[in-house]
Amino acid sequence: MNLNNDQLFQQHCYINGEWVSSITQQTVDVLNPYNQNCLGTVPNCGTRETEQAIQAAQEAFLMWRDVPARERADIMKRFAELMRQHREDLAKMITLECGKPIKEARAEVDYGASYLQWNAELAWHIQGESACLAQGRHMVTIKQPKGVVAIITPWNFPSAMLARTLAPALAAGCTVVAKPAEDTPYSALALAVLASEAGVPKGVFNVVTGEAATIGKALCQHFSVRHLTFTGSTKVGKLLMQQCAETVKTVSLELGGNAPFIVFADANVEEAVEGLLTAKFRNAGQTCVCANRIFIQEDIYTIFVEKLLKRVQSLMTGDGLLEDTQVTTLINQAAFNKVECLVQQAVDQGATVLAGGKAMPEIKWGYLPTILEGITADMAISQEEIFGPVLALQRFIDEADVITRANASRGGLAGYFFSQQIDRVWRVAKQLEVGMVGVNTGLISTPVAPFGGVKESGFGKAGADAIEELLDKKYINL
Ligand code: NAP
Repeated sequence: MNLNNDQLFQQHCYINGEWVSSITQQTVDVLNPYNQNCLGTVPNCGTRETEQAIQAAQEAFLMWRDVPARERADIMKRFAELMRQHREDLAKMITLECGKPIKEARAEVDYGASYLQWNAELAWHIQGESACLAQGRHMVTIKQPKGVVAIITPWNFPSAMLARTLAPALAAGCTVVAKPAEDTPYSALALAVLASEAGVPKGVFNVVTGEAATIGKALCQHFSVRHLTFTGSTKVGKLLMQQCAETVKTVSLELGGNAPFIVFADANVEEAVEGLLTAKFRNAGQTCVCANRIFIQEDIYTIFVEKLLKRVQSLMTGDGLLEDTQVTTLINQAAFNKVECLVQQAVDQGATVLAGGKAMPEIKWGYLPTILEGITADMAISQEEIFGPVLALQRFIDEADVITRANASRGGLAGYFFSQQIDRVWRVAKQLEVGMVGVNTGLISTPVAPFGGVKESGFGKAGADAIEELLDKKYINL
């Protein structure tokens, strides 16, 4: 990978503080999505390695839960600091395995580190309650870490999604077995290197790579795993929730979205255009909070689309490692096929292509920034996460109508709207059926706010409230 610190590039799993191969010695290749070059391999682990990792995490839990919060916090702050120190290497690794532009990859590293920092602060504030009631008895509640936490993460933020879910677990005093996505395991393994350097004791944080369904099942079925945090598609989230029922684990599900993005006639049009670019084109449209259905009020439709078209045509495409690149490859062939198919179906049903609408000429899995108009609610492109750089535009006439249309989705992760009328801002923010609302902004992710969805976008929060999900409240009558 040609990093400044080669130690960060590990091609083994991390179990109980050791770098290990799979028991069968089998490996899987990891490709650079930009050019399909093989970056290396990782072990193809299964049930037995996962059980070893769970056992290590269970043993380490008996020690880690009793480490004073201040010490856990110090270790986590060092960990965050190491991420920032190695930002350039970690960012390069993200770009190479996931394809996103290098500037976004750097932002991802900072974003991930901020979760460690924030949760380190929270570790100090884990507090119970006490009340002195009748007959001289004290009713006390204490909060205790749940135990071993399984974490399964997606490829689209290979570093930050792990840091975001690992941080509250470490702060709470839980230990972790993580399974990164097959396409992007190296960012997770690099975090294991830095965790160890920061002083996270062996067994507290384990990373197992390999066959998703087998590892997932082993994590869900093992009794010692007391909580699962899953970030990924709704389809897999539903399956894992079922599998966790057997051992009555708690689960946090950060699933897919289908975000509405509404531009009212009273919006600042320039700001709305910029907000839309931010909400749509990060990681070539492959984020869970991506604007998916774009609603523009009739009165400003023409002027808005004119400005949008100019900006979309100015986006720089190319190699993600180049500083100026803004939109580059999708993650793999299946992702490319899906986007191509959704656009083609929409066009067949009457949509018009205003920009793009085809593959990038020189990038095999790249799709050009695209604008489609004439989109209707019955098209697949309105009903599914596009997960590609495609703006699917719809017109609307009045507020009540657009709210109904925006809420006509089983997903409910993020929603955005632009308006300068304060009464409308409150009204619409309250009516959107989503977990997070961006008002006059296309960027909502931050560790200091609860991140998560409603409806089929999941439950349980990342960020601000996540630590509470990893603590059991115990009542003692004294
Ligand atoms: P995915 O297919 O659900 O995969 C997510 C993770 O689950 C990967 O590690 C994957 O492993 C693993 N997995 C797949 N099948 C599994 C099974 N049967 N048992 C256990 N684990 C299994 O989702 P994705 O395509 O990677 O990610 C995109 C999705 O994630 C989108 O829907 C996006 O909206 C969502 N997402 C949500 C958030 C949020 O905060 N709400 C954040 C980011 C992404 P392999 O890769 O090895 O198959």
